[in-house]
Amino acid sequence: AVEIVGLRKSFGDLLVLKGIDATVEPGEVVCVIGPSGSGKSTLLRCVNLLEQPDDGKVIVNGVELTDPDVDIDAARRRVGMVFQQFNLFPHLTVLDNLTIAQRKVLRRGKAEADAVAFENLEKVGVADKARVFPAKLSGGQQQRVAIARALSMNPQVMLFDEPTSALDPELVGDVLGVMRKLADEGMTMLVVTHEMQFAREVADKVLFMDGGVVVEEGPAAQVISDPRHERTKTFLRRVL
Ligand code: ATP
Ligand code: MG
Repeated sequence: AVEIVGLRKSFGDLLVLKGIDATVEPGEVVCVIGPSGSGKSTLLRCVNLLEQPDDGKVIVNGVELTDPDVDIDAARRRVGMVFQQFNLFPHLTVLDNLTIAQRKVLRRGKAEADAVAFENLEKVGVADKARVFPAKLSGGQQQRVAIARALSMNPQVMLFDEPTSALDPELVGDVLGVMRKLADEGMTMLVVTHEMQFAREVADKVLFMDGGVVVEEGPAAQVISDPRHERTKTFLRRVL
């Protein structure tokens, strides 16, 4: 589970997260929706400590990542992250993208790292591209490699920040399909997305953020089809 308690974050004078409380239960998919600038990416970046929260707690499977005494690298390893811009290492082949952190961080030997890499490339449907450099792949393939790379670290939780927003429309479905499969396999997932159909079909819960607070949360179908708050209604009218 991911427990987010009273999370606050400012950049200079700009208060971006004004006390966020949220929980992702084990095996749950929670989608975060909301307008640009509402703090969605900052929330995700605080959950895996790419940003240091000013206040509040992030607890992953009982371990408080925000505890100053916690080993930050070990803590971060529990949480896989996939970004809008795939962030693959351009100078490494697909296979090396998947094995480098396994070898350096998890200290796996080459044979084991390769085996884990191929297993995950199979899962996302790009095993035939293992020896290729990222620039030779479509955006959808690159994003699926990025997912496989995160999975190769055996995360307990996966964070996705608008993973399909940079993709040509015809490539979006492949990536959402991989995410749906992960959800079906029971991965605990926190997903920022504009794909309302995906959220409705796959998410257990939806959080609507605006202005650094969670304005509304509830079962996906309720929040998307029958929102309670005026701000949620206005936002959904614009994106649906
Ligand atoms: P989008 O839908 O456009 O991705 P978002 O909901 O993800 O938006 P954030 O990226 O979390 O929004 O940004 C929230 C606010 O924090 C914005 O006003 C942004 O300019 C500001 N912000 C984010 N990161 C930083 C930073 N590193 N330094 C200063 N301000 C930042
Ligand atoms: Mg964002």
